[in-house]
Amino acid sequence: MFCFQCQETAKGFGCTLKGVCGKNATTARTMDLLLFVVRGISVVADQLRQHSLPVEKEVDNFIVDALFCTITNANFDDESITKRIDKGLAIRDDLKHQASAKDIPLPEADELNWKGSHDEYDAKAATVGVLREQNEDLRSLKELIMYGLKGMAAYLEHAMRLGHNDESIHRFMQNTIAQITTKSLSADELTVLALKTGEIGVRTMALLDKANTSRYGNPEITHVNIGTGTRPGILISGHDLHDLEELLEQTKDSGVDVYTHGEMLPAHYYPAFKKYTHFAGNYGNAWWKQREEFTSFNGPILFTTNCIVPPLPNATYKERMFTTNSTGYPGCKHITADEKGHKDYTEIIETAKQCAAPTEIEHGEIVGGFAHNQVLQLADKVVEAVKSGAIRKFIVMAGCDGRMRSRDYYTTFAEMLPKDTVILTAGCAKYRYNKLGLGDINGIPRVLDAGQCNDSYSLAVIALKLKEVFGLHDINELPIVYNIAWYEQKAVIVLLALLSLGIKEIHLGPTLPAFLSPNVTKVLVENFGVSGIGTVESDMRKWGLTN
Ligand code: SF4
Repeated sequence: MFCFQCQETAKGFGCTLKGVCGKNATTARTMDLLLFVVRGISVVADQLRQHSLPVEKEVDNFIVDALFCTITNANFDDESITKRIDKGLAIRDDLKHQASAKDIPLPEADELNWKGSHDEYDAKAATVGVLREQNEDLRSLKELIMYGLKGMAAYLEHAMRLGHNDESIHRFMQNTIAQITTKSLSADELTVLALKTGEIGVRTMALLDKANTSRYGNPEITHVNIGTGTRPGILISGHDLHDLEELLEQTKDSGVDVYTHGEMLPAHYYPAFKKYTHFAGNYGNAWWKQREEFTSFNGPILFTTNCIVPPLPNATYKERMFTTNSTGYPGCKHITADEKGHKDYTEIIETAKQCAAPTEIEHGEIVGGFAHNQVLQLADKVVEAVKSGAIRKFIVMAGCDGRMRSRDYYTTFAEMLPKDTVILTAGCAKYRYNKLGLGDINGIPRVLDAGQCNDSYSLAVIALKLKEVFGLHDINELPIVYNIAWYEQKAVIVLLALLSLGIKEIHLGPTLPAFLSPNVTKVLVENFGVSGIGTVESDMRKWGLTN
């Protein structure tokens, strides 16, 4: 195996024996073969589209799900990934028949022709991974694009589940994968494609924002309980608000409470969920603390998207783990939707009823709900605070949290920020500083949480609005510092999206991606001012954040 798609990759180089995330070599290779199949499907689907022939929704759905299931911590279940390969090969061959029936020529590519039995999957998989591209810089750019597309697929899938779709995004994804597969693109051409991926990433995040807000209302200032009640609970993790809605509906008279974990916390900010009195609060912190927090939660856990940490062999909660959508874990019950898209959570609810109430690990509340609509309602106050000098700078500290000790940097950074600065956050990076009690500036909290990582879109909308209000020509003239923490591939699409919006001087940590080759890093540094982080003190000085 060779995988270097996330920030925690072994030795900052690549996982070769087993993933730091817990992914074993067989799973990694099975995912490589699934991506090989995705490439084959994309090439044929793209050709059909180029000849103005329709491509069935099943194809779009397959590609989105397949990409999503290869995101870090999404799926550890070889059986479910292998089933996807089988299905994908059948889809590819069907598309080839359609092309042949219309005399549409197809390019030469192994991805279009390979067939094999299950016994042959592993050997084939070993030849089609990341290292198939020999040139380090081309590999770097191709993987940068692929990881961006994985993040895009995740956001698109959430939007699709709420009935919002955009054919142009599928078209772009498949065309981009087809180009990477069959064309000899230069480094310059791949760089352009990476920025285009960011541009479509903005469109995808806007689509998801519309899907979420049109169904559940605009996030608003909300105080979220972080303590626990006395009734049994179900913990829901991940990003999928549609799953949450169905779970809340099915649990409302059951005597069971529902708590959010990790990235599901921002669900509390949506008005539509406030009518559920049993939507009890948020339990715990970011994804990586789940082994201890799931143990003390006592009740069942539902994973709606990535963020699974493999439970230890003696874990007491494995029988209480449920997965759905693109996620999977061997031995855990997977909940699938019926043909109308509805899921039946009876088994989770019945499990919860047999469990003790969660053990309280914290008490109090946290404040959030500062997505674009809410912040723009406060715009006068914010602008006044900037003009009067009460707010000197905004620091965008969005992104992901992770296990590495070096991420203590972000807590210290937040603590040491001068009192006339405001943190704009989104994603699970917030757990490094959202319980510090950093106070407010004239009633504006010093940590403004917009929501999930996809709500980084909100931060971009806010920045664009401030640029307009202050009459600036360039978004980079705003008093905003970007200090972003990344972990997995959704952070990659967020980064590409910000670059495509013309945002410069983004600082990325705790380490730069291993998949960026020295030459590609040089391009990002020279053209976009992207850089890593240093020590808290040196960065504070460099960015004009000292008292
Ligand atoms: Fe390693 Fe990250 Fe890949 Fe897991 S996802 S195998 S930790 S690089």
